[in-house]
Parts: sequence; structure tokens; C-alpha cells
Amino acid sequence: MKAAILHQFNAPVSIETVAEPECPPDGVIVSVKACGVCRSDHHAWVGADPDVVLPHIMGHEFAGVVDEVGPGCTTFRKGDRVTAPFILGCGHCPDCKSGQPTICDRQRVIGFTQWGAFAQRVAVQAADFNLVKLPDSVGDAVAAGMGCRVTTAWRALHERGALQGGEWIAVHGCGGVGLSAIMIAKALDARAVAIDVSDDALALARQFGADACINPSRTPDVPEAVRDITGGGAHLSVDALGIAVTFENSLRSLRKLGRHVQIGMPVGPHATVHLPLLDLVYARQLSIIGTRGLGAAGFPELLDLMETGKLDLGALITERIPLSAVGQALARMDRGQPAGITIIDNFTG
Ligand SMILES: [Zn+2]
Ligand SMILES: [Zn+2]
Repeated sequence: MKAAILHQFNAPVSIETVAEPECPPDGVIVSVKACGVCRSDHHAWVGADPDVVLPHIMGHEFAGVVDEVGPGCTTFRKGDRVTAPFILGCGHCPDCKSGQPTICDRQRVIGFTQWGAFAQRVAVQAADFNLVKLPDSVGDAVAAGMGCRVTTAWRALHERGALQGGEWIAVHGCGGVGLSAIMIAKALDARAVAIDVSDDALALARQFGADACINPSRTPDVPEAVRDITGGGAHLSVDALGIAVTFENSLRSLRKLGRHVQIGMPVGPHATVHLPLLDLVYARQLSIIGTRGLGAAGFPELLDLMETGKLDLGALITERIPLSAVGQALARMDRGQPAGITIIDNFTG
């Protein structure tokens, strides 16, 4: 099969023909029809993700068609249209059995701990547990776009952040996951403040329903601006980028008893931050909540929201590229977060 291979961190990927993946006994092989290019692929590409061993195939936001079924998989058949969370639970441990595969100790992560979907085919283990059937109304590109950023934003807001209708949310960072958070917030009838240094990203945020936008390059005190707009602070605030300044701005944007959800993965110098524990967390009684991914069991509720038309992800997809252009798409992220989601939808070109 054709795949984009990473031989050296921070160097161009090469499109090569490699051996077909082996079908796991309890899994499937999916013929990839679409795959998103995500900021976490960029982390892998630059060598910031310790899970990645070279040579490697990235890509964790995919949709496709089941091509081969292992003898232990009973729920899926060749030809089924599917997607999967990027975190694959083992399906058997107490965490998986209690419905929390994203904390499974034996999890595999597509495109990180195992080869991913910047390729014509990808293997999915424990398919009965991890695979998600796609409704006809959800196309391949949109389903791939859900794969990581939308599902992550959905769990961050709905399950972890418990966002309620009428509440204010501040979204710090409006790349793919931040814009997804804005759309989901509006679908949940909340009010949203979008924050990003890119006016293009803010224009998209406004298009997706953001009630207010802040560009930190023109507004030095972002938390104060959020507190003004929201009448005292957001009920929920998310760091959708994962750098020290967005984390701290997010905490400072909250009203008393507010909830912060950390969506962006902090890497390198941002992995350790100084936290004003007394003034913020203790005195203002804030909650700091982590989130990562969404298990397969959480997909149907989100797909329902999409099928009813309350959540239209099509507009999130701002670019479609062939597999051969994935290297340039990753290199471009060196210069910042592109607005919207880039999808690979051609695996022969
Ligand atoms: Zn991702
Ligand atoms: Zn498990």
C-alpha cells in the first residue's frame, strides 16, 4: 500500500509503497477514504511525542470502509463505513469495561503507538469495542474531521466541562479543536467567546456562532476582556492550544466556581506551568479538569447531533489535499495553527 513515511523527525515525509498492515485477530483493516491533518500529528512530526518510534506513519483522524475482518470481530463486516477514536482501548480491562477507554493502561494510539492513517489502509484492534459505524448522512471527510478534534471538544465541553445552555464558555485558541468547541457550544445553546491571535481564525469562529471575539495581539489583558464580556467571567473556559499563556489566560478568565478544561496537549517548555494556586484555584474555588479523546461509546450522541443538523461540521473543513501534500501541510504548522481542518481525501495522488 501507499503511505507517507516519517524516517526522520522534522524532515519531509516520503510517499512510499510499504507492506500491507496485518489484520489483528480481534480487529479489522480499514481502507482509508479520508484522514485529517492535526496539530498532534505536528507534535509527532517534530519528535515531541515520546510514543513515536521511527520509521512511522502518522494520521489518527480517519474514516473509511472495512476491508478485512479478523476471526474475533463479530459486529462488523467488509464494506461497513466506519471511523474510530484515536485512542483504542483494550476492551477488556476494568477502565474499558466501565466505559472509560481513554484511560485504559493497555491503550494503543493510532498514528502514535502504532502506524496510522496517512496510508491507504490502517489496522484497528478490538474492533467490536473500538469501531464506530457511520450513518449514511455523514460523509467521509466530515467523519474524518470528527476523529480527534471534534470528538475531543465534544467530550471536553459536554462530559468533562458539563456545559449548560445559557452558560458562557471562553475558548482560548481557535484552531481545529477550538473552532469545534465553538460549534459544539452553540449546538448546546451556550454563549461563546473566541480568543485567537489570527483574525482568519476569529472570522471562522464568528461564522460558527461565537458571540464575541478577542485577538490578544490587540487586547493585552485577555482575561479582563473575557470577564467584561461575560459579566464576571466564563462559567467554563478551555485551553484549546496547550501553551502556558493560554492555560493561564483560561484560568484567569473564569468566574468564581468556574471550570477549566485542558484540551491542548502541553509539550516542551509548556509541559510545566506555574500555577497561582492561592489567588485562583483556592480563593476562587476553580476546578481544573483534564480531558483526552472520546471513547467509541460516546460517538452516537455526537453523530445524532450532526444528523439532526444542530451541528454542521462541513464548514470546519477548509482544505482538501492529496496524501502527497501532507508533508507541506505539516511543515506549515511550524508557522502557527491553520484556521479550520485540512483533510486528505485522495490516497492515490
Ligand atoms: Zn489530533
Ligand atoms: Zn482497557
